[in-house]
Amino acid sequence: MFLKPLRQLRQTLSFRLTLWYSAIFVISSLVLFVTGYLFLASSLRQKDQETIMAKLKDYQAQYQAGGIIALRNEIKFQKYAGKRQEYFVRLAGPHNRTLFLSLPEQWADFDLASLEGRPVSGQSWIHLKARDDENVLEIVSQRLADGLILQVGKNTEDREEFLESFRGIFLAVMLPVILLGFLGGQFLASRALLPIRQLIRTVQTITETGDIEARMPATPSGDELGALARLFNRMLEKIEALIKGMKGALDNVAHDLRTPLTRMRGTAEMALQAPEDPVACREALSDCLEESERVLTMLNTLMDITEAETGTLPLNMARVNLAGLLEDVLDLYRHVAEEKRITVINDYPAELWVTADENRLRQALANLMDNALKYTSQGGHVEVKARQAEQQAIIDFQDMGMGISPEDLPRIWDRLYRGDRSRSQRGLGLGLSLVKAIIQAHGGQVSVISTPGVGSTFKIALPQ
Ligand code: ADP
Repeated sequence: MFLKPLRQLRQTLSFRLTLWYSAIFVISSLVLFVTGYLFLASSLRQKDQETIMAKLKDYQAQYQAGGIIALRNEIKFQKYAGKRQEYFVRLAGPHNRTLFLSLPEQWADFDLASLEGRPVSGQSWIHLKARDDENVLEIVSQRLADGLILQVGKNTEDREEFLESFRGIFLAVMLPVILLGFLGGQFLASRALLPIRQLIRTVQTITETGDIEARMPATPSGDELGALARLFNRMLEKIEALIKGMKGALDNVAHDLRTPLTRMRGTAEMALQAPEDPVACREALSDCLEESERVLTMLNTLMDITEAETGTLPLNMARVNLAGLLEDVLDLYRHVAEEKRITVINDYPAELWVTADENRLRQALANLMDNALKYTSQGGHVEVKARQAEQQAIIDFQDMGMGISPEDLPRIWDRLYRGDRSRSQRGLGLGLSLVKAIIQAHGGQVSVISTPGVGSTFKIALPQ
């Protein structure tokens, strides 16, 4: 019954991270303690051996000065002086048979007989274990100049007691350390995985409620998970823009296709009602063709706008001379301008380079030129200017046309929007939306200043 949740818990990344963190923490603490312990034990042993050696030197000097009597007197003197007897002293003959032995009473438990007859050469160490406990007698043997053997030793009991209390402290400390390691691991794992949990929650909200506006909370951290959160949000923004763009385009299409299609149906029905009149039939066919052409243009332009707005329009970026592009556009509209007797003034340098998709940029410039000529009355002026300013190329289309009313001004960029006074002119209401989408896809901006009855100036700012 409890096994399933336990298995699930074991599979969570946070649990595994917690285990890893605490294991690393506990192992590091263990290594630290053990190293400290070994170092302490070895330095205590070294210190003990140094004092034993010092004592050996002491007794050797006593012996050399006054023989065995002096050695015995020295030990007796220390006993009577009430000094705590700490050392084992043994003087043995050349064949290691005891001549003199002094042993603190409390250590009587060592098998000293095993020392008898043991071969000794130069200086050597012996470790003698007690019979009924863990005590060890650490003895250094030294063969003296006259062939006798002097042995001085010390019980390691004090040292062992000290190390044992150290081990006790270590064990007492280890439990809280393990607990601390686990809690610390859990804290670190939960902190580290916070963005992942937020990511899961956001994805869950989106999949369960379909709310594409859900976002991960912004984190200022510059780590990988912070970058993931930012990228994820940016991806959601793109998807949201795409969905909204597609929905907008679909709404527009549904709304604006109805009129031309109804018109086409009406024309076709009328032609069918008079099949004997070939002229009317031809006219109806030509109207239908014109209308379908219009629908096609509208659909294509709408697709282009949606793609440009959502960042999916493929742009073939290259270095382009704006002067050349403007020249093309002016050539294209020269005939229209002449027909309306509009004077076109151009003012731009022979070379003004930008990085752009040549065809798309030409399309945007042509749309602005088209509008300038379309909305300027006979005999007017249109001025096309371009210049460089602060790493930007600025292009102005200034006309002396009818201008745009303040109410229309914010809406002229909307798809399929046409000003009331413009309805007499040909157009789909998509030109400016396309201009804006193309220029923004290039990282630029387009704006307008207009006074009704005086004229309008459309300004493009393109990064160079
Ligand atoms: P269209 O020209 O096909 O109507 P646009 O998107 O190009 O569509 O323009 C939207 C509206 O903005 C136009 O219907 C018109 O009312 C207004 N407009 C655009 N350019 C100008 C201009 N140069 N002068 C006056 N009005 C303009």
